Amino acid sequence: MFEEPQMNLFEPVAACSPAARLAPCGITLRETPCRSLLNRADISDYSFNCYTGCLHGCAYCYARFMQRFHPHDEPWGQFVDVKINAPTVLAKQLRHLPPGSVFACSACDGWQSIEQHYQLTRRCCQLLLAAGFALNVLTKSDLVLRDLDIFTGRPVTLGVTIAIPDENLASLWEPAASPVSARLHILKEARKAGLRTTLMFAPLLPHISDTPDSLLRLFQLAKDAHVDCIITDALNPRPRVWPSVQHLLQTHRPDLLPLYSDMLFHPARRKQYLADLDRRIAHAAAQTHLTDRLA
Ligand code: SF4
Repeated sequence: MFEEPQMNLFEPVAACSPAARLAPCGITLRETPCRSLLNRADISDYSFNCYTGCLHGCAYCYARFMQRFHPHDEPWGQFVDVKINAPTVLAKQLRHLPPGSVFACSACDGWQSIEQHYQLTRRCCQLLLAAGFALNVLTKSDLVLRDLDIFTGRPVTLGVTIAIPDENLASLWEPAASPVSARLHILKEARKAGLRTTLMFAPLLPHISDTPDSLLRLFQLAKDAHVDCIITDALNPRPRVWPSVQHLLQTHRPDLLPLYSDMLFHPARRKQYLADLDRRIAHAAAQTHLTDRLA
């Protein structure tokens, strides 16, 4: 039976207004109560998101589909809905749900900058761990290091995503995520804290981060970080992703537009691309002696 922790996790953390602070940057922030937080998921038994929207604003972000259910005039990366009652709702759900593994987070980065103010992801992680759930964390934000104190000694796997090893290109595609070097530092600290670590290379971008050289560089980073598990994924034609990727390529790499269009939308060429990519990934893993770490 789940018992609520002694500490009060539901108190607001500070009495200032992040909405007022973000407005001059053109970012809209809304505090909206939710009815349910923990959902059944494919990737783990459950997943949760304390925010709708993500200020990291990655050009390839698949979570854009959330705009269908939470319409906003602002582009992706320029709005966040804060599920202000998330810990209270989660605590109620935990009274009835059997423990399992939880993916944090599936449709936003739970450690995006506003989490520093709201601490909702942190408080939900505390509740889940106290209730005997295991956490599978994936982030691009070094704010997650704040929460090593609650993860240490608990069933937590801490992972980071890197799509592109080059810092300049990464900041173009993932404008507000932590630098690649900071993400690698997360893995180092997590390992020092005794946690299992994951490095996810996703999405691998054609002719940018899927080349043999780039893959070798990525796998070398994984080797240097001594990660327990490596996950890879290609760029996928998810809803609302293509216009954003197309816009970025038009501005910075118009020469790649036909290739991306083919790879995403021509079934036969996509099949061939994915088979070739698998071969290049397997080769880079073998060259770095990491084949056994590939998920
Ligand atoms: S960090 Fe993840 S959820 Fe946030 S914008 Fe980037 S891909 Fe989307």
